[in-house]
Amino acid sequence: MRGRKKIIDVRGCFWHGHKGCKFGRLPKSHIAFWKEKIERNRKRDADNLRHLQKAGWRVFIVWQCDLKNLGLLKTRLYEFIETT
Ligand SMILES: [Zn+2]
Repeated sequence: MRGRKKIIDVRGCFWHGHKGCKFGRLPKSHIAFWKEKIERNRKRDADNLRHLQKAGWRVFIVWQCDLKNLGLLKTRLYEFIETT
């Protein structure tokens, strides 16, 4: 939403390493490989978020697991979009 300077960032729990989420757990094999890969994604997400916020953007992050509760997500999204 360029006019409002708002961004909705949709993230997959596994690939973006959603902490404390059952979908964000690492596989049992090749742990070092996955750990490094996912940590790199998390760092990139954090850097991107910092840059966007510095530039005055408001960012709403939707995790894959948020889609399990569409009612709540709809309410939160509506608030994000409507509030200035
Ligand atoms: Zn999640």
